[in-house]
Amino acid sequence: MNIIKVEPVSLVDWPGQIASVIHVKGCNFNCNWCFNKDIVSFDMNGVISIGFKGVMALIPEKIDHIIITGGEPFAQHGIVEFIHKLKDEGYKVGIHTNGSFPDELAVTIYSLDYVAMDIKGYVNMYPERGFSSVASMLDVMDCLYVITDSPTPHEFRTTMFPGVTKNEVYSIANMLRHLNADAYYLQPYIPVNGEKPKEYMSRDRINKIARKISKEFNAKGFKTIVIARG
Ligand code: SF4
Repeated sequence: MNIIKVEPVSLVDWPGQIASVIHVKGCNFNCNWCFNKDIVSFDMNGVISIGFKGVMALIPEKIDHIIITGGEPFAQHGIVEFIHKLKDEGYKVGIHTNGSFPDELAVTIYSLDYVAMDIKGYVNMYPERGFSSVASMLDVMDCLYVITDSPTPHEFRTTMFPGVTKNEVYSIANMLRHLNADAYYLQPYIPVNGEKPKEYMSRDRINKIARKISKEFNAKGFKTIVIARG
């Protein structure tokens, strides 16, 4: 496990909970709009890795919820054992994932207490859009099924990076409601290094899209809620 940071207290990484956040380094994707390019490489040269005891020492006594985020947590060697060790210590454990490791997800889903998975857009367009040349569409779909077939509380989210369209998120929301997903969040794209992309969807526009889709679905009595945030 390439654990590079433990944030003792976060109010934003697990909806409705105060949690500690474990950050891991290394991701199997290489999104061209990655929010933190420094954590994509698995190279730990010159970086201090925090061991399990070190992690425990950094988590405040009153915290009983822990989120593992990345990079991509499921791309880490030993992640399954690590989740089980945290559970053995009595913590509620949540994970943020890019949704490309269905096997690791399947063996941990009943131990996890919360999962947040990115859906980056139309799944068949991941390679074309530069998210990943390695992600298999089937793996992403399998992760969707593993999560929505489980009783584990979850959310899916799409960052409205330049190029993602209203029709696209409508289709994704439509698929999620058929899978009876808990929630779907639309997040604004925050440009990396202050760069201003040409087509950038405003928060107001994202709010309008989320409200419209949510209204339509709620009227039909579906469980999936669509929310704009950020
Ligand atoms: S999946 Fe997340 S961490 Fe990995 S490259 Fe994409 S944005 Fe960065």
